[in-house]
Amino acid sequence: MNTPAKKPSATGIPGILKGLATTARTMARPTHTAEYPDAPPHLPPRSRGVIALLNENCTSCMLCARECPDWCIYIDSHKETIPATTPGGRERQRNVLDRFAIDFSLCMYCGICVEVCPFDALFWSPEFEYAELDIRDLLHEKDRLGQWMATVPPPAALDERSAEPAEVAAANKPPRAPRPERSA
Ligand code: SF4
Ligand code: SF4
Repeated sequence: MNTPAKKPSATGIPGILKGLATTARTMARPTHTAEYPDAPPHLPPRSRGVIALLNENCTSCMLCARECPDWCIYIDSHKETIPATTPGGRERQRNVLDRFAIDFSLCMYCGICVEVCPFDALFWSPEFEYAELDIRDLLHEKDRLGQWMATVPPPAALDERSAEPAEVAAANKPPRAPRPERSA
């Protein structure tokens, strides 16, 4: 059986030499490889690494747990009665958070929980070094989620041409002048 004749290269240079030239060119270029973990990566501050919980802001409203597509947020709470502050006033009820946990082995980092929280209790932290040898340890309970708050970057500064936030405008408002007393 006849073997097909090899096609000559278009430039007349044997393929092996072209390959070696490409290798030599690549070796001369600076490398972009990050030597992690010796050199930490420079991640954007808004990277989605881990979710942090600001416990004091959580009202146990369950909105995040209901919206989570993976059902990986677990919340337990109970109601507490706050006595009336004035004689004849009414008692009030408030939710007390007993448990708040996120299972990061199920979480798909979609960020819906952070977006829907109406009370600013959940934040993204760029921290990502929390791999575990046992998958069950990826269930972060309230205390651990709270510890991530220290790694949450401060919010970006407002655009200098943007309107003043309503809260700041209200705080800077001059106090009302006292009403003149009625004459008898
Ligand atoms: S990031 Fe998405 S999947 Fe993860 S806990 Fe929040 S809502 Fe659930
Ligand atoms: S984290 Fe936010 S959305 Fe979730 S239960 Fe607490 S207050 Fe509600």
